[in-house]
Amino acid sequence: MGYTLGIESTAHTFSFGLCDENGSPLPSKSVFVRPVKGGIHPREAADHHVINSVELLNSHQISTDELIAIAFSQGPGLGPCLRIGAAVARSLAHRLNIPLVGVNHCVAHIEIGREVCGCDDPVLLYVSGGNTQIIARLSGRYRVLGETLDIGIGNMLDKFAREQGIPFPGGPVIEQLAREWCENNPDAKLSDYELPYAVQGMDLAFSGILTAARHMVKGGDELGAVCWSLQEHAFAACIEVAERALAHTGKSEILLGGGVACNSRIREMSEIMAKERSSTSFVPPKMYCVDNGSMIAVLGRLHLLHGDSTMPENSGIQQHLRTNETPILWA
Ligand code: AMP
Ligand code: MG
Repeated sequence: MGYTLGIESTAHTFSFGLCDENGSPLPSKSVFVRPVKGGIHPREAADHHVINSVELLNSHQISTDELIAIAFSQGPGLGPCLRIGAAVARSLAHRLNIPLVGVNHCVAHIEIGREVCGCDDPVLLYVSGGNTQIIARLSGRYRVLGETLDIGIGNMLDKFAREQGIPFPGGPVIEQLAREWCENNPDAKLSDYELPYAVQGMDLAFSGILTAARHMVKGGDELGAVCWSLQEHAFAACIEVAERALAHTGKSEILLGGGVACNSRIREMSEIMAKERSSTSFVPPKMYCVDNGSMIAVLGRLHLLHGDSTMPENSGIQQHLRTNETPILWA
């Protein structure tokens, strides 16, 4: 039995994960940069990744003899962070004399979802810290049908939370505050807490909603109420564009991915929308929604199965790699 090792280092998460010869992922071992103050600093995050790399590799209960390939996130992401993952991957592949595969991080979110949820040809709603995209496979590529025009939805939630004194990652705390407020105010009307709607054609934008939510708190509204409204507006916008993508493409599966897909409200909205369209909503376990090395291993194995590996001279990072730049050879 041989395993593919996947190394994820696009931003705050540094993670090593495995998948077996059949493509099944094993849980990743991960460390996270948690800035005490402010946002994530790319160089400080990269230093953090370097310090943790040996321990992360050793934390897996397999020997290096059992590895048959090394996959890594080649992009998109923060340059200094990506460089660390790429350097570790290159040296391991060279040292063990096994193939190296650079993969597209966004595509990895789709492929782990297809693998663990058993869906075939989904529209992916990819909602993470830095990315918000609606993606579907058309003519051998994953095409971006819609995306955020400014900041990622997770970054928006984290930024709002930070301003309210909630440390990174703010998304889960916003979820909890919203839920508690809802339970205590079952008759609340969304129209009393209106925020701008983030849909622009097939695209999304979140900076306006962030500013308006900030003003709402300053104006004296309860934080829980604003968290609730923020989630309702931002998630509804994402689900609306995903629904339109289902209608345009004629597909009948929606797959959620990215850290914000851990949120039970967006999961619920996706299920309701899918049901109304006689479609199915899929969500991977939380450990495979957030950034993780196992998804990189799963995608690396798929590339290798189709004879696609990365020569060291082509293994430079691609900070601005787009989802649709990667040919999909396996589906
Ligand atoms: P990723 O960039 O995919 O690793 O995901 C990290 C992002 O997911 C951060 O912005 C978090 O705030 C966000 N996140 C994690 N859990 C939740 C949650 N339960 N609700 C909303 N956002 C979340
Ligand atoms: Mg991600």
